[in-house]
Amino acid sequence: MRTGQQYIESLKDNRCIYIDGERVKDVTTHPAFTGIIDTVAGLYDIAIDAKNNMTYVTEDGTIANKIFMIPRSREDLQERREAISKWAEATYGFVGRSPDHVASFLASFAGASHVFERGGERFKDNIVNFYKMVRDNDLYVTYVIIPPQVDRSKAAHELDEKYVAMAVYEEREDGIVVRGSQMLGTGSAVCNYLFCSVISPLRPGDEDYAISFAVPMDAPGLKLYARPSYAQDKPSTFDYPLSTQFDESDSFVVFDDVFIPWEQVFVYKNIDLVKAQFHETPAHALGNNQAQIRFTTKLKFIIGVARKIAEMNGIDKFPQVQEKLGELASIASCVEGMMLASEYYCIDDKNGLVRPNPRFLYGIVGMQDTIYSNVIKILRELTGGGVLQGPSTYKEIINPESAGDINKYIRAGSADSTQKIKLFKLAWDIVGSEFGGRHQQYEMFYNGAPFVVKGYSFRNYGYHEATNLVNRFLESYQFPQ
Ligand SMILES: Cc1cc2nc3c(=O)[nH]c(=O)nc-3n(C[C@H](O)[C@H](O)[C@H](O)COP(=O)(O)OP(=O)(O)OC[C@H]3O[C@@H](n4cnc5c(N)ncnc54)[C@H](O)[C@@H]3O)c2cc1C
Repeated sequence: MRTGQQYIESLKDNRCIYIDGERVKDVTTHPAFTGIIDTVAGLYDIAIDAKNNMTYVTEDGTIANKIFMIPRSREDLQERREAISKWAEATYGFVGRSPDHVASFLASFAGASHVFERGGERFKDNIVNFYKMVRDNDLYVTYVIIPPQVDRSKAAHELDEKYVAMAVYEEREDGIVVRGSQMLGTGSAVCNYLFCSVISPLRPGDEDYAISFAVPMDAPGLKLYARPSYAQDKPSTFDYPLSTQFDESDSFVVFDDVFIPWEQVFVYKNIDLVKAQFHETPAHALGNNQAQIRFTTKLKFIIGVARKIAEMNGIDKFPQVQEKLGELASIASCVEGMMLASEYYCIDDKNGLVRPNPRFLYGIVGMQDTIYSNVIKILRELTGGGVLQGPSTYKEIINPESAGDINKYIRAGSADSTQKIKLFKLAWDIVGSEFGGRHQQYEMFYNGAPFVVKGYSFRNYGYHEATNLVNRFLESYQFPQ
C-alpha cells in the first residue's frame, strides 16, 4: 500500500490534460488539481494508518486496502462499508469517484472472471491480472463508460462518423488501437489508470464499440479536456471550503489512436459481454453500494449544516422549521436504512460472491435525483439571504477598515461574525457555488439519466412478491353466491 506522497509522485508522468487553453505541464502543481490531489493523498494516508483498520489479507496473501475486497459474505460487505465510510467521512461525501468506486467494479470483475472467459480464456486472465496489479500497487482507477452526447437517438455505428464514440480502429498482433471519445472522466486527471468501456445499451452493428480495457494515464494519444476548475482562483478555503478541497474535476476523454496491449483488453467486440460485465458480475451493485455509502455520509453532513444554520439564526424554534429539519432527517434515515438493508439482506451470487440486495440498493438509486434536489431545496430555504450577506472574502473580516462593521452586524445569537460567515460560506458551497451546482448535476446523472436509474429500480424490485399479494387477494373473493 502506498502513502499519500507516493500517490502524488505517481502522477508525475506525461499525461495530456488541457485546461484553460493550455496543456498542463505537471498536474501535481497545477492549481486546478492540487486541492483534490492533496485530498486523495490524505485518503491514502488514512488507509495505510493501522488504527483505521482499512487493510486486509488478500487471497494471495498480500496486504491491500479493503476497497479491493471481493465480498464473499455479509461480514465482508460490512468490513468494506466500514472502510469506505472512513474515506467518505474524510471527504464528507463530496468526492464521488474516489479510488474506492472503480475498485469496487474491478473486485467484482475479478471475483466473477468466468464472465470474461466467455469472450476467450485470455480475457479472464487479463482482468484477474489487472485487478491484482492495481490492488497490489494500490492504484487509483477511474472510468469512462458513456459515449459522447452527439445524437442519443442513434446507435454508435449510425452516427455520421465512425470514430466519434470510442471504437476499435485497428487490431494488431500485440494489441488494439482505439480511436474516438468518451464522457465524462470524473477524477481522471488525477488517477493512475482509466477503465474504458460502455454501459449504455449497444445494438447489433455496434461490435467495434463493444470493448472494455484499461489504459495508463500517460498512454500516447490519450487526451483529457477538463471542464473549468472550481478550485482555481478561489480566494481561500475559508471562502470556498468544498470547492478548494474536493473539486475532483471531470474530463472529456479523447482517444487519438491509443495503443492498448492485449493484456489490458478485457472485452473485445462483444455486445453481450460489455453488458454482462456490469450486471452478471456484482460490479454494478458493488459500485453503487460504494456510492450509497458515500451518499449517506454526504446527506448526514448537509443535514448537519442545515441544523446548525437553523440553530444559529434562532429559527429552529419555529414548528415550520422543525418540520423542514424533520423532512431532512427522514430522507437521511431512509437512505442510510436502505443502504444497511441492502447489506443485511445481501444475496448469494451463485459464484460464491455476495451482492447487496438489489431491491433496497436500487430503490435508493432510483430516487437519488429527487432526493438530492429536495435536500438542496430545503437547505436553500433555511439559509435565506444569509448565504449572500457575508463579505466577498475573509479579507473584509481581517481588514481593520471593514472589520468593525462586519463584526458588529454580521453575527447570530452566540456566534461571532467569523463563525457565522464560515458556516454560511460552507452552505453556499453546497447550494449555490459552481461546485454546488455541479454536485446537483452529479447526483442526478452519475449513474445515468433519471429514466435509466428508475429502470434499475423497476427491474430489481422483485415485482412478483407484490403481484402475488394482489393475485392472492383477487382470488379470495368471487361473485356473490
Ligand atoms: C458531474 C458528472 C460526472 C460524471 N462522471 C462520470 C464518470 O466518472 N464516468 C462516466 O463514465 N460517466 C460519468 N458521467 C456521465 C454520466 O454517466 C452521464 O451523464 C449519464 O450517463 C447520462 O448521459 P448523458 O449525460 O449523455 O445524458 P442523456 O442520456 O443524453 O440524458 C439527457 C436527457 O435526455 C433524456 N434522454 C436521453 N436518452 C433518452 C432516451 N433514450 N429515452 C428517453 N429520454 C432520454 C434523459 O432523460 C435526460 O433528461 C458523469 C456525469 C456528470 C453530470
